[in-house]
Amino acid sequence: MRIDAATLFPAAFDYLRLSVTGEALRLGVLDLHVHDIRDFALDRNKKVDDAPYGGGAGMLMAPGPVARALDHIRTVGPRGTAPHAVLLTPRGARLDQARLEALARRSWLVLLCARYEGMDERLHASRFVDEELSIGDYVLAGGDLAALVVVEGVARLLPGVLGNAESPVQESFHGGLLEYPQYTRPEEFEGGRVPRLLLSGHQGRIDRWRRAMAVKITYRRRPDLLAGAELTPEEKERLVRWRERDGGED
Ligand code: SAM
Repeated sequence: MRIDAATLFPAAFDYLRLSVTGEALRLGVLDLHVHDIRDFALDRNKKVDDAPYGGGAGMLMAPGPVARALDHIRTVGPRGTAPHAVLLTPRGARLDQARLEALARRSWLVLLCARYEGMDERLHASRFVDEELSIGDYVLAGGDLAALVVVEGVARLLPGVLGNAESPVQESFHGGLLEYPQYTRPEEFEGGRVPRLLLSGHQGRIDRWRRAMAVKITYRRRPDLLAGAELTPEEKERLVRWRERDGGED
């Protein structure tokens, strides 16, 4: 997968040399190109922002340098392919695991990071932007951290990046459930013991326990996820019983 990021802070992307994303880069599974939007300013001072029409606090990113940066990226990417361009903005659709999985199936992503009070509106709904994504209902100072979240979330889904090919399949949000509890040595820690079943070596029973715990934890902590979860008829019945017991509507 190729990812191009357009930003005012290229150094922020150095983080991606670490750990899982670093491994994806070393393996060549991920090909990352970072572009400084300031390089596409035309004036001597490399100005990329301007005051908003109609007044108001702060400055906006001017459309010209950003548009030139994105046009440049299209010329240096793979021939005959169009990138999927993502603008990071609090106004975007909320990023979740399903969206990361969809992005990981693309061959070429462009991530557009704003600063100041954001982008001129004409960049939002434009030929430059295919999708607007938010990493949560809060406001950061810039889109760089949001883009790093996207790159890391996508990179660990790429084939060969995680040692154990199973691990993205078993963890939280896959299939609409949170992950079951996990333990490592020692068997006893500050009075807490590892559940006996996990020491039994009986893989079938362990798998069933993990599945039941995943359903239970999701019910307790994120019941909103259960509407989209893949549940067996027995699990659905169990949920009905729990909701009755807890005074729910079912
Ligand atoms: N004035 C904008 C608003 O109210 O929606 C916020 C601008 S914010 C200070 C500057 C930039 O940081 C945004 O344009 C966006 O690129 C990025 N950003 C901030 N919070 C974000 C979030 N939750 N998700 C994605 N990008 C975010």
